[in-house]
Amino acid sequence: MNKKVLVIAAHPDDEVLGCGGTIARHVKEGDKVHTVILAEGITSRDKSRDRNAHKEELSELGSAAKRANEILGVHSLKLIDLPDNRLDSLNRLDLIKIVEELIDEIKPNIIYTHHIGDVNIDHRRIHEAVITACRPFPQNHFVEELLFFETASSTEWMTAGSAPPFVPNWYVDITDTLSLKLKSLEAYDYEMREWPHARSIKALEYQAYWRGANIGKQAAEAFLLGRKIQS
Ligand SMILES: [Zn+2]
Repeated sequence: MNKKVLVIAAHPDDEVLGCGGTIARHVKEGDKVHTVILAEGITSRDKSRDRNAHKEELSELGSAAKRANEILGVHSLKLIDLPDNRLDSLNRLDLIKIVEELIDEIKPNIIYTHHIGDVNIDHRRIHEAVITACRPFPQNHFVEELLFFETASSTEWMTAGSAPPFVPNWYVDITDTLSLKLKSLEAYDYEMREWPHARSIKALEYQAYWRGANIGKQAAEAFLLGRKIQS
């Protein structure tokens, strides 16, 4: 039976960095994938948040997100525009309510989101909000799988002992969809950097090969399984 998949990411590009190949694979297999990006990106580059000063860039980033998700075949994309890198300034309960509403609206079988041990504060706050929103009470019974992805230039940048390390126990073979992931990352030109930056196309390609080699496949994406409910 086809599944409903919800990807909850902090910033435009995280969804592709973390699980772009897996998204494309879900789509190819007939699943419906919904992407939600909670924070706006860009505005954390200034001392204080000023959306007006970055109006054009924000709108370009929004268009890039649309293109990147179209390439993967995502069914719907929602950009929520919460303050970039300042999610810790939001009331935690407000963030949980936003995530709860999204989950209630989409009723996904599978959720992909951030790992708790990332350097980026938005990633950590979203991880916490998602696990709270996915408490397994009867009304939430549709969420069968909760998976946490690694985000290049945040997960591996955490220092030893500062947070739980990313030790994957769930892999998805993306041999057939790696090219779509890389194409989708190209749509995020503005967010990508030159090799040998961790967030360069080449680094992401190597990461996919390395994660593939971890499990004896050509290319893969790696995850931490948060919870699996087999009905
Ligand atoms: Zn991010």
